[in-house]
Amino acid sequence: MKLLEERILKDGVLKDGGILKVDSFLNHQMDIGLLQEIGKEFRRLFPENITRILTIEASGIGIATIAAQYFDNIPVVFAKKSMSKNLDGDLLTSKVISYTKGLEFDIFVEKKFLSPDDNILIIDDFLANGQALNGLIDLVNGSGANLIGCGIVIEKGFQDGGQIIRDKGVHLESLAIVEDPKDGKLCFRKQ
Ligand code: 5GP
Repeated sequence: MKLLEERILKDGVLKDGGILKVDSFLNHQMDIGLLQEIGKEFRRLFPENITRILTIEASGIGIATIAAQYFDNIPVVFAKKSMSKNLDGDLLTSKVISYTKGLEFDIFVEKKFLSPDDNILIIDDFLANGQALNGLIDLVNGSGANLIGCGIVIEKGFQDGGQIIRDKGVHLESLAIVEDPKDGKLCFRKQ
């Protein structure tokens, strides 16, 4: 997605350890106009009859809620990263290792929010090693719902998450795929 690639080139900051900081438009401050274009693009890439969007807190929520407006305002469900007294129904759970924090944690969704009748689109901000996406796919599989596909805003093509998810036969669409940064310069995979 050209608009997104241009924005990453303009405002993205490459940090040590292959971390791309996009906090001025995606991860901390959010550019709503850009998120609307991202939502439209996800709709174009996933024209199927989708009934719910699944994402994970925190960064996925804003992206998914704006995208949902282009999918007839379907509900957005977000996986929670910590147990709380508010989670009191039957739960679906999976384990994820955080890329940015290096810690393993459980993720949770109440079963009543993912039903076997659902057609699910998973949306998240980044794809690195595929841990978060694998955990979300696990939740969908555990619910018996039908996974239509996964929409990612930025895939880091130099980490193996994209390959792992595509090898599972999952329909994965990433709006920008960042290649291994040479001499600290960002470039994108042609799609
Ligand atoms: P994965 O689970 O695929 O290894 O990593 C994906 C998750 O880690 C995303 O949900 C995102 O929050 C975080 N993440 C991974 N790489 C980056 C990065 O380069 N920049 C930022 N801002 N977040 C990242």
